[in-house]
Amino acid sequence: MINTDSTLHIEKVTSTRVGEVDFDNLVFGKTFTDHMFECEYKNGAWQRPTIKPYGPMLVYPGMKVFHYGQAVFEGMKAYKDENDDVFLFRPEQNLERINKSSKRMAIPEFPKEIFLEALNELVRLDKDWIQKGDGNSLYIRPFAIATEVGVSASPSKEYKFMILLSPVQAYYKGFVKVLIAEKYSRSADGGVGAAKAAGNYGAQFYPTSLAQEKGFQQIIWTDSNEHKYLEEAGTMNVFFRINDTLITAPTSDRILDGITRKSILDLAKHNGVNVDVRKLTVSELIAAAEDGSLKEIFGAGTAAVVSFISHFGFKDKIYELKEQSDSFAVMFKKQLNDIQYNISEDPFGWRK
Ligand code: PMP
Repeated sequence: MINTDSTLHIEKVTSTRVGEVDFDNLVFGKTFTDHMFECEYKNGAWQRPTIKPYGPMLVYPGMKVFHYGQAVFEGMKAYKDENDDVFLFRPEQNLERINKSSKRMAIPEFPKEIFLEALNELVRLDKDWIQKGDGNSLYIRPFAIATEVGVSASPSKEYKFMILLSPVQAYYKGFVKVLIAEKYSRSADGGVGAAKAAGNYGAQFYPTSLAQEKGFQQIIWTDSNEHKYLEEAGTMNVFFRINDTLITAPTSDRILDGITRKSILDLAKHNGVNVDVRKLTVSELIAAAEDGSLKEIFGAGTAAVVSFISHFGFKDKIYELKEQSDSFAVMFKKQLNDIQYNISEDPFGWRK
């Protein structure tokens, strides 16, 4: 339900901070633009949507978000082309997904029209924070948190829906080494794996830090029942190329329905690449690595777009992937980038 006053209210900064930013040395997600979006939910309705200067906000220690983790978020990007025009990539998909995540976490859904209007206005206001050129973009972080005060384990009656903007450079530089999960799990059947619930990420930090101690950057999660099927990585869906077939796990209530993943599946079909959306077992992967039919593994997600995986570890063994001269990962990364930066045609209508 939307309150009657759904007109977007805008409070602009008196002077911009953009001149203070060293755009060549950004740390991912640490710098925020001049403005942010905020909308409160109370008395059963979303209140006045407001864009205001980015800054601290008032919180109380008893707010439910701190006790019960009722929080969801999104990650999306805006890109600037050579003519200084700015484009979002499939923004309605992120809105749909945050609402799906919210539903799972008993958070009220956010109205689509307000989201799109606020997002476009926010990005327009802070356009000067977006740098042109390969890898540069504006990372957009919508999120919703439970703000009702009360340490009783029940859904909050009050929330804040916010959007932050952060200028970023390319996320991963170079190749990624991944470890296949044998002990820990990120999600379970009937759980919240398919939601971008904040706690899903906090729960991965410890096992990921153990993997990092062994020299891997990320974990490829396996199913929580038998650790038999390959699922996804920390913030990426994963693709495997065996011979010339591209394989990725089907989405389920354990796997996040990634927008990059679905875009790559569409691009693959468009390019006539043989696609197999199916469960792939760890033993099939090992066999393919050993007989040489495993050509590539890559991650797909908004932050890194496409991440090239050079090694994977499983049971104390490390398997190396050779660079392919006809790499699918390189091809998809280029095609996605060209659409995102308005370099190529957009046959799918993804640029907004
Ligand atoms: N899996 C997980 C767990 C993620 O957090 C993300 C990032 N949102 C992805 C996959 C990739 O999704 P997307 O392509 O929509 O960024």
